[in-house]
Amino acid sequence: MKPMGPIPPGFVANAGGGLLIGGRAADELVVDAGGTPLFVYDSGLVAQQIERFRSAMPAEVALHYAAKANPYAPLLSWIAEQVDGFDVASAGELGRVAHLGLPISFAGPGKSDQQLETAMRAGVTINLESEGEAERALAIAAGMSHPPKLAIRVNPPFALRGAGMKMGGLASQFGIDHDRAPALIERLVAAGADWRGLHIFTGSQALHADALIEAQTATVALAAEISAQAGGRPAEVNLGGGFGIPYFPGDRPLDIETVGAALARTLAERAKILAETKFAIELGRWLVGDAGVYLTGIVER
Ligand SMILES: *Cc1c(COP(=O)(O)O)cnc(C)c1O
Repeated sequence: MKPMGPIPPGFVANAGGGLLIGGRAADELVVDAGGTPLFVYDSGLVAQQIERFRSAMPAEVALHYAAKANPYAPLLSWIAEQVDGFDVASAGELGRVAHLGLPISFAGPGKSDQQLETAMRAGVTINLESEGEAERALAIAAGMSHPPKLAIRVNPPFALRGAGMKMGGLASQFGIDHDRAPALIERLVAAGADWRGLHIFTGSQALHADALIEAQTATVALAAEISAQAGGRPAEVNLGGGFGIPYFPGDRPLDIETVGAALARTLAERAKILAETKFAIELGRWLVGDAGVYLTGIVER
């Protein structure tokens, strides 16, 4: 959601004061669509966000798109050329990105056996949300010709301060309690799975750089601690997302340049066990939320 009005933030008007979206007049887009209501997305604004992420963040941090923020097919195929991977939260989303050729991770509690099987067969990395899910995945993968790619989503002992949704520091359906993660890593490795690493997502919709910095710093330290306890080097650590966008009067946009500079320092100083690890951040709303406009006709005033 963004403020209502004739010209939303980030967009421009033509000489007559009419809204332009991607260089085209809103009126013209309405005619093309055969009337209102309609949603229009400006890929130029998404490109600007991606560019901003790339220049603010350390070059070694991959950018993944969390498809549930907007799984519109033309947007997905366009963004596939700009990002390094997709995160999906359902079999439906997986079906929409599977042909786009990027690495995919599948998070979310309550994955069915059918979903696990489809995803593992497609070579998707499963972010395991519980020990039960891990056992089901291993049993299903036993009938496959290649080892399944399995990562562990960790429920950390801390949360993202000020987050719209906290995922950490409390009992949660999201992830395996951090103190049980090392034993599960050992179990996956012993079972012959391709253990891909850790996924630690502390909360969404953060607007304060200092809260994100604190959470990311603690996340990298926790990933090192769990890996050391399990005696394994994670190929990947997914730092989650959490970058918010302003929704309400008084909300200020996130200063991602400050977050990126702090993350560069954190990664430079990381424990040796993570020296070869690849890091990723998965973003949804921050990439696409401000790039869409909902056009509707006025019936009464
Ligand atoms: C929803 C989700 C995201 C993206 O959340 P935003 O707040 O839109 O950036 C990232 N990762 C996972 C696992 C998610 O479920």
